[in-house]
Amino acid sequence: MSYRILARKYRPRSFADVIGQDHIVTALSRAIAKNRLGQAYLLVGPRGTGKTSTARILAKAVNCVQGPTGEPCLVCDSCREIESGNNADVIEIDGASNNGVDDVRALRERVHYRPLRDRNKIYIIDEVQRLSGPAFDALLKTLEEPPDHALFLFATTDPHKIPDTIVSRCQVFEFRRLREVDIAAKLADICVREEVEVSGDVLQTIARGCRGGLRDAESMLDQVLAVAEGAPTLDDLEMIAGLARPERWLDLYEAVAVDDAAGVLHCIDAFLQRGGTERDFVQQGADALRDLLHLVLLGEDALGVEPSPERRERSMNLARRLGRDRLESMLGMLFALEGRMARAPLAARALLEWTILRAARLGELLDTAHVLRGMREGESPPAPVAARLQPAPSAKAGPAGGKAPIPAPALSISPAATAAPEASRGRESEPLGARAFPSLESLLEQVRVGRASLGRAIDELYQHGEMRADEVYLLLRMPDERARVILEDPVSRKWLERLPDCPGPWTIEFEQPVERKDLVGDALRQHFDAVEELP
Ligand SMILES: [Zn+2]
Repeated sequence: MSYRILARKYRPRSFADVIGQDHIVTALSRAIAKNRLGQAYLLVGPRGTGKTSTARILAKAVNCVQGPTGEPCLVCDSCREIESGNNADVIEIDGASNNGVDDVRALRERVHYRPLRDRNKIYIIDEVQRLSGPAFDALLKTLEEPPDHALFLFATTDPHKIPDTIVSRCQVFEFRRLREVDIAAKLADICVREEVEVSGDVLQTIARGCRGGLRDAESMLDQVLAVAEGAPTLDDLEMIAGLARPERWLDLYEAVAVDDAAGVLHCIDAFLQRGGTERDFVQQGADALRDLLHLVLLGEDALGVEPSPERRERSMNLARRLGRDRLESMLGMLFALEGRMARAPLAARALLEWTILRAARLGELLDTAHVLRGMREGESPPAPVAARLQPAPSAKAGPAGGKAPIPAPALSISPAATAAPEASRGRESEPLGARAFPSLESLLEQVRVGRASLGRAIDELYQHGEMRADEVYLLLRMPDERARVILEDPVSRKWLERLPDCPGPWTIEFEQPVERKDLVGDALRQHFDAVEELP
């Protein structure tokens, strides 16, 4: 008995079958129709988005006896042989295993022979970025003067590893990640043809988990069909693919919403027990958060097709309870977490728990910020109160604890709430999450990765940051001599400016050290007209 895996069985055979890449299909069909096909194409895109399939279809289009045509007949010898990989004039090379200069040299020698039977000699090189440097040099020679009958189709997931000299001789097509709905629709279509019953819930969860890669989605469907007894369920999917069912994320974020530390830890543990990795957790968890954020920002329509009314209800309530500020901050925390985990893989689990527990306390801190803002607007003078109030380095934000609505202020006997206007600058309070403003956070993440010591200095001293239209503004605590050198290094400053998405120069100011004042305590005392008793 031979079983053909779904991805191969339902591989697109003609341009019309290729989904989600209309821009490429249209361009290629037109070029063929106008007889203006180039001699080298570079197909770029994430895995499983149809690059190699498209290359084969293009080969058929060019060599079909009816061709060149945008609609190859699929029945002539050429078409059939190309489909089964036995066509002598279409040479498929895996760049990963034939990456040496000898392989390419052999190719160079053969490329000048005429095709055996068909119109063109077509080279499909998959994973072309894996070729070695000398192999690229040899390939370049061929690309500089290709014989008329040769057509090169290169596929790559990582175009940055290909020398510019090669890229510049190719027409480049970028394959997109497929949309979830497209993948789910394709899977549904496969199920109908295979005459198997799979619920929409399961298909959607697969489509989501595969992040735009159709081939991954198809092989995951293959797996659940093979393992499940009867119709596959979300439980099967969880067990086989480590894809948490949607309820799990609702459980987690409901625990986060009420700062239920035990619940949070249990959810994380259960996820890892089921075989998912910390990284999977962050990716799937961020997707679930993004859904909630969309619910807040776009309303119920954002939910799309949610088959379960119960989940629909829970999502709506949860989104409302968490609110935009918190959701955005939490997303930022997850993005930062990914970077941290990459740098400290051994501590991945601890980092994960720490981050989610912090996220759980975010509500409390945001509430505190609101109370303080109210108080400040009410009676007390402008003060950097809130900035000092946060239970500084968040590492101290231990699990479970923190029942007090306001962290205990340091004891002080100074009765008058005298502000330090110089230092305060009338800034907004910045509880833990506020700095997780995604665009600034993503810049800082790049700094942490690209210039570790600079990133560390910023993290250690961070007080406040803003992305402005034409600059990045940071307010830091006063650095020591060593940190100052790092922060003011002109080369680093130039480097910062050149980061992608950076709006302009970085203005970094240092906060003047102020006398330690108990502004919160003062504000509270004023508010309640209280007198503090000293021991
Ligand atoms: Zn044909």
